Amino acid sequence: MLQDKLGRQFHYLRLSITDVCNFKCTYCLPDGYQCDTSREFLSVDEIRRLVAAFAELGTSKIRITGGEPALRKDLTEIIKVCKSTPGIKQVAMTTNGFNLENKVSEWTQAGLDALNVSIDSLKPEVFKLITGHDKLTSILRGLAKAEALGLNSIKVNTVLMQQYNASQFDEYLNWLKTNAYTLRFIELMQTGDNLSFFEQNHVSGESLKQKLLSQGWSSVIRDKAAGPAQEFYHPDYAGKIGLIMPYSKDFCASCNRLRMSALGQLHLCLFTEHGIDMRTLLQQDEQKESLKQALRLALADKTPSHLLQQGETGITQHLAMIGG
Ligand code: SAM
Ligand code: SF4
Repeated sequence: MLQDKLGRQFHYLRLSITDVCNFKCTYCLPDGYQCDTSREFLSVDEIRRLVAAFAELGTSKIRITGGEPALRKDLTEIIKVCKSTPGIKQVAMTTNGFNLENKVSEWTQAGLDALNVSIDSLKPEVFKLITGHDKLTSILRGLAKAEALGLNSIKVNTVLMQQYNASQFDEYLNWLKTNAYTLRFIELMQTGDNLSFFEQNHVSGESLKQKLLSQGWSSVIRDKAAGPAQEFYHPDYAGKIGLIMPYSKDFCASCNRLRMSALGQLHLCLFTEHGIDMRTLLQQDEQKESLKQALRLALADKTPSHLLQQGETGITQHLAMIGG
C-alpha cells in the first residue's frame, strides 16, 4: 500500500486523461480552454501501465477526470482498461455530462461503476450563464438514464457561488426529496487564475453545514479511509448531501488520493508546487518495477496540508489542469 510519512494510505487515484474542456465554467475556465500547452495526453497503453503499477501498490479506485474526459474518443477503451486491471475494484468518472445521455450505456457496459456529474444550477438559464451551454435538460435526462441502467453510485457536484447560485440552496434540497442522488457541495477554491472571482463568490462550507444541521440533517459517521467529504442524511429526503470543505481544519488529515495529470505528472496534492514526471517510466511494460519504486519514493515528499488558507495555490492555475 502506498503510504506517506504521516501514515495516510492512498488507495484512490484521480487520473486526468485530458485538460481540454468544452465548457466555460465561470470559476474554472471563464474564457474557455486555451490551447497553449501540449495536447499529447497519455495514450491507452501508458494508462494501462500506470494503472497496473498503482494497483500493485494497493490502489483500488480510479477516478477518470479532466478537463472534460468525455471529449476523448477512446474514453470507453480507457474505462475498459482500468476496469480489467487486477486489483481495481471501482472505476469512477467525473464529467460535465455534455454527452451523458448518449454515452452512459456504453460507458456502463465498459465497466464504469460510479459517476459524478457537475450541475451548478437546476435552473436552465443560470446553468447556461455559469457554463456557457444550454445543456441542463439533456444532462438531467442522462442522470435518469444512468440510474435506470443500475449505476450504483451517482453523485452530483455543485459549486455554490454568491453571485450565481447560492440562493438556490433550498431548491437543491427540495430536489433531493425525490431524487436518490448524493449531492456534493464543493466549496469554491482559489486557484492561480480566479482570485477576484473567488473573493466575490466564495460561500463557506461551514455555513452550509450549520444550515443543514439546523434543518434536521444528520452527519453520517464515516471511517477515516472514506476521504475528506462530510456526508449528511435526512429521513424525509431520498438523496444525501456531501460537503467538500477544503478550508476546514483537518481536511487534509483524511486525504486518501493521488493525482496524475494528463501529461503523466504525479501531483501529490491538488495545490502542489510541482508535478513529478512519471511518463518516462510508462513507455514499456518492463519498467513497471522502476515506476512502482518511483511512486513509493515520491510519497516521502507529500506535505501534511495544502496552504490554501494562506492563499497559496501552488502551480494550479485552474482545476481543469489536474481534474479537481
Ligand atoms: N469537467 C469535469 C466536470 O466539470 O465535472 C471534470 C473536471 S472538473 C475540474 C472537476 C470538478 O472540479 C467539478 O465538479 C468542478 O465543479 C470542480 N471545480 C473546478 N474548479 C473548481 C474550483 N475553483 N473550486 C471548487 N471546485 C472546482
Ligand atoms: Fe470544464 Fe469541468 Fe472546468 Fe467546467 S469545471 S470548465 S466542465 S473542466
